This record gives sequence, structure tokens and C-alpha cells, in this order.
Amino acid sequence: KPHVLVIGAGHAGGALVGQLRQFGFAGRITLVGDEPHTPYHRPPLSKAWLKGETTTEKLALKPGSFYEEQHIGLRLGERVQAIEPDAHRVRFDDGTTLDYDWLVLATGARARQLPIPGVGHSNVLSLRNLADAERLRNALKVDRKVVIIGGGYIGLECAATARALGAEVTVVEHAPRLLARVASASIATFLQSEHEAQGVQFRLNTGIDAIEGEHAATAVRLSDGTRLPCDLVILGVGAEPAAELALAAGLACDDGVTVDADCRSSHPDIFAIGDMAKRPIPIYGRPIRLESVPGAGEQARRVAAVLCGREPSAPEVPWFWSDQYDLKLQIVGLIDTDATSVVRGDPASRSFAVFHVKDTRVVCVEAINSPPAFMAGKKLAASGKPVTPSELADSSADLKTIAA
Ligand code: FAD
Repeated sequence: KPHVLVIGAGHAGGALVGQLRQFGFAGRITLVGDEPHTPYHRPPLSKAWLKGETTTEKLALKPGSFYEEQHIGLRLGERVQAIEPDAHRVRFDDGTTLDYDWLVLATGARARQLPIPGVGHSNVLSLRNLADAERLRNALKVDRKVVIIGGGYIGLECAATARALGAEVTVVEHAPRLLARVASASIATFLQSEHEAQGVQFRLNTGIDAIEGEHAATAVRLSDGTRLPCDLVILGVGAEPAAELALAAGLACDDGVTVDADCRSSHPDIFAIGDMAKRPIPIYGRPIRLESVPGAGEQARRVAAVLCGREPSAPEVPWFWSDQYDLKLQIVGLIDTDATSVVRGDPASRSFAVFHVKDTRVVCVEAINSPPAFMAGKKLAASGKPVTPSELADSSADLKTIAA
């Protein structure tokens, strides 16, 4: 019986092993992960879990019994150190080896570090996994002065949570605006004013010279000379693909493992899925490395279909969400600076959407507290049905009809 070995017990790896059994895969499956946990939901680590509104048990993707029932071998708390593609074998940290027929890399990404003095201090924290989140939760207390470096999703979600826990929060961002890579200026401006109304301070267009302090950070020194005293620093400056195993094994890599539409790497028996994979996305006509739970799930389903000899389902338009305070942001598609953007609804009502249209096609929708706009956007982005910006901007026109 063939053996599928999956390295990385996160969202992508966890989704894949379940999907393989659901598609009737009768061979052997082994899931290896270096964290001590079965696969769990990461998004709550900056939101509900960090706020203390949900438990660690509830984070699990599947109950612990699932893996035994489905005959999925788990090797948790173990780290793969090397891949030997020609021998169809991996080597663990302790020197032991394991053979496979197909290998799926799902090692995710890791929090990017900054090359500045003081980043190694014990109260300078990043957030990628449950162990990081536990450290952060212990450090986030009422009245603590928190400096968040990076105005991306993780930084802003941590800012919202830290405010909810009563901390004083300043966000420092080197770009002139928030979410510069991933959201439109309209959404960034709206979110910034919401955060400001909640008491978050922003320093945009500002670099960091150093994090001061003997052993622990006591202040963050900005490029304009300002010193921000702090009890805690959160680094939210993006993630880098954990692709070193693939690189060392000689697989083609370019900001992640280069894969085809089926998530197959440059070696025919090795696949890569999730945050570490850079895959062609048909509607954008170029390879893109997605960092999202839906992206990980879609790629896992694709590989499961390929390994089970099934017809894969049509590719999904990428989508994503973020929760900050009582705001739910849902995005479908990727921001395209050449597109025309129109706002539907009134931002002051805290329920509106920004539609991005290029050559009569919806390429992206950003919806704030507006699930119907998100759903319509998902349909339109997938179908490519021609639309005009003015009909989308007209709140009295029925979105369901426009998207039908
Ligand atoms: P991961 O889930 O990171 O799993 C990779 C696993 O592989 C890890 O457990 C890692 O330790 C393990 N591993 C790495 N190397 C090895 C090795 N050599 N041997 C064994 N194991 C190894 N996405 C959304 O869509 N919406 C959100 O709201 C959202 N919020 C987020 C909030 C936070 C705080 C974080 C960190 C991420 C968030 N994301 C969100 C992104 C989402 O969690 C990721 O896109 C998703 O986890 C990617 O899945 P993955 O399996 O590729 O990687």
C-alpha cells in the first residue's frame, strides 16, 4: 500500500490527511509535526483565544480520537531535518528515517524577524503558534504599554485584542499607511480611524532604530528620534515560508516552494501546500504564495484529489478574513492597483464594501460587516460576469440579482 507522508501538522497538513480518507485513500498516512499538538486553528491566536474567550481544546481542527479512527499515524513533537528525494526518505532530528511513496510538505511559514538591536529581548514577542500565543497572553495585562511593530493583519488584530485587555497600544508602521500590501487605502483608512476611536496610537511612515533595554525592552527608538517607553513589544512584520528543507533537497524555490496547479513541486513525488507553496493562480495569471486558511484548505483538497485519482474541483478565488473589535473584514480576490474601486454603502454605518473592477470584471471585494457583499463578490469574481462600477455602487440595486 502506498504511503503518504505529510510534514507539518498545521492547517494544510491537517486538512490534507482528513481529506485523503474522505476521498477513500486506503494507503498508509503519516502526519509529522514539530509542535506537540494535533492540528489546530491559528486565527483565534490573535483574536478570541488571546482575549480568553475560547479554550485551547476548542482550537483543535479535529478531536484527538479522529486520527486513530482514521488510521492516520501521528508523529508529534518530532522535526524532520532533511529530505532525500531520490531515496524517497526523510530524516528526523534524532537520525532515524522514514520512507514514503509521496511526500507532502506543509511546513507553513514563520514570523519574520527584524535586524535591529534589541529584538532578542525576552519581552519582544512574535505570534505564529500556540507557544508564542501563550507567552503573549501572559504578558498582555491592563495598563501595560505595548508597542506593536507592523500595521498588517496580525499587528492590527493584536492591537484590538490588547485594547480589549486594557493595554496602552502604539502601532509603528514603516509604510505611509496600514495594510499597504493587502488592503485598499479606503479600508486601511477606515480601520485606522476605528482603532484610533478605541484609543490606539499610530506612527506611520516611521522606521525603528533600536529596541532599548539591558535584558528586557524598555523603549522602542523610532527613526525620527522619538522614544516610546514600553513593557512589551509585538513584532508583526510578516511571515517567511519555511522552505529550507525543500531548498536543501534541491527543489525549485522562489519565495516558497515552486509548485504547479496541482501543488506538485519540481520533484514529481513531492507536493507542497499552504503558506510555504507558491502556486499559479489562473485568474491572476501568475504564481502567488497565499497565507490563508482557505488557501491551505483548497490546496489540501487539490492534492488529495490528485493522489486519489479524482477530478479536482475548480480552483477557488482566494479569500481571507480578519476580525478587529466588532468588525468582520472579509476579502475575496487580491488587490489590483490597476482596478477601479467603488464603495458600496456608507463607511459611517460600519457596514459597507469596496468593489474592485477591472475590464468589467470584479477582481476583489473587501467587505466590512457585510456578508451579502462578500458572497456576491465571491460569485462575481469566480464567474467573471460583466458589471459596471456604477451598478455596484448603487445601494438600492439588489446585489443577488447583479451576481446571479
Ligand atoms: P501552519 O498552520 O503554520 O502549519 C505548519 C506546521 O508545520 C507548524 O506546526 C510547524 O511548526 C510545522 N513544521 C515546520 N517545519 C517542520 C519540520 N521540519 N518538521 C515538522 N514540522 C514542521 N488566515 C486566515 O485566513 N484568516 C485569519 O484570520 C488568520 N489569522 C491568523 C492569525 C495568526 C496569529 C496567524 C499566525 C495566522 C493567521 N492566519 C489567518 C493565517 C493562517 O493561519 C495560515 O495561512 C495557515 O495556518 C497556513 O497553514 P499551513 O499548514 O501552511 O501552516
